[in-house]
Amino acid sequence: MRYKTTGKKNIQPFEPPCRKTIYHTREDAEDMIRHIAETRTGRMITAYRCEACGFWHLTSKQK
Ligand SMILES: [Zn+2]
Repeated sequence: MRYKTTGKKNIQPFEPPCRKTIYHTREDAEDMIRHIAETRTGRMITAYRCEACGFWHLTSKQK
């Protein structure tokens, strides 16, 4: 007995143009910055809006 595989779906996964973690809003990004700041020290993390994908990423600035 065979099962026919009907209805093949070509699901194309959503591929953002960036491989960095995406935050949909600045608030989301800043929440993560606060979380990181509590667990790690010594790094200055800022959020910026990416022109490639239109979402927000975090970047760390090392002094
Ligand atoms: Zn991006």
